Amino acid sequence: MILIDGKKAAAELREELRHEVTGLKAKYNKVPGLTVILIGDLTPSQIYVRNKEKSANEVGLKSEVIKYPDSVEEKTVLEKIKELNKDETVSGILVQLPLPKHIDKQKVIETILPSKDVDGFHPMNVGNLSSGYESSVPCTPLGCYLLIKKVEPNLNGKKAVIVGRSNLNGKPMTQLLLKENCTVTITHSKTKDLKAECLEADIIVAAVGIPELVKGDWVKRDTIVIDVGINKTDKGIVGDVDFDEVSKNAKALTPVPGGVGPMTIACLLKNTIECFKRSQI
Ligand code: NAD
Repeated sequence: MILIDGKKAAAELREELRHEVTGLKAKYNKVPGLTVILIGDLTPSQIYVRNKEKSANEVGLKSEVIKYPDSVEEKTVLEKIKELNKDETVSGILVQLPLPKHIDKQKVIETILPSKDVDGFHPMNVGNLSSGYESSVPCTPLGCYLLIKKVEPNLNGKKAVIVGRSNLNGKPMTQLLLKENCTVTITHSKTKDLKAECLEADIIVAAVGIPELVKGDWVKRDTIVIDVGINKTDKGIVGDVDFDEVSKNAKALTPVPGGVGPMTIACLLKNTIECFKRSQI
């Protein structure tokens, strides 16, 4: 079985991006800039943002974190986003989710200029992705896609089963694999026989949030399995795939941690650079 090393793949991608930023700096005499807005003091969000800032600096991006307390008014955040939309030194804007209840997530997402939406959540980017046009692609599915392509560069005609239909993961993952000519089945909590669907798959992407849902006997011998899940359990952090069982069957599998997670941040940097490049045309 191929253990898909997301840490290594992310380090390689960051190295490529570092070179690209050096080239962009030489060409334009400026570097792409990423601004992250962090609201409140949720520990996981703080850790994510710290890692994003560290990785951005590593590849030579200009990065900035704007922090607000939980009590910040929605209009203050929206005004700040509008200011950043106009700032030419800012190529990408990310508002770290989740947000406090009094702030409308969709309003925040839609206030970010689509051309600076490094998360790919703006309806215009969602629409462009599903129409097959150029767009920012949500970082986690983009990372999954790059990992799958490392194992199998030609996905023509492969059967892919996506477990979970979230806007963040399942739906954009479906679009990316459709673009690669996969036959895609998207499954969810109301799917009648998930095991039978998975047994048809050459590629399984599990993004559910249920610890070790995908079992060994759900997976054919030549299947590539990508585990997006991050679940806190008594035995530590586990994915949505039963790693011990599935690793005996699958052709390739991502571990948790060390699989999809590191690629997510590297893809955020990639998206920031893409936004910068598009803004220079
Ligand atoms: P979500 O809660 O928004 O969506 C979960 C999806 O799973 C839903 O579409 C639901 O229909 C489906 N589902 C629920 N129960 C099911 C079942 N029994 N069978 C089949 N489908 C079922 O979740 P999300 O935001 O997509 O996150 C999914 C997981 O991925 C979580 O564990 C999250 O922590 C993790 N995650 C990881 C990264 C990363 O960088 N690795 C990034 C984002 C999310």
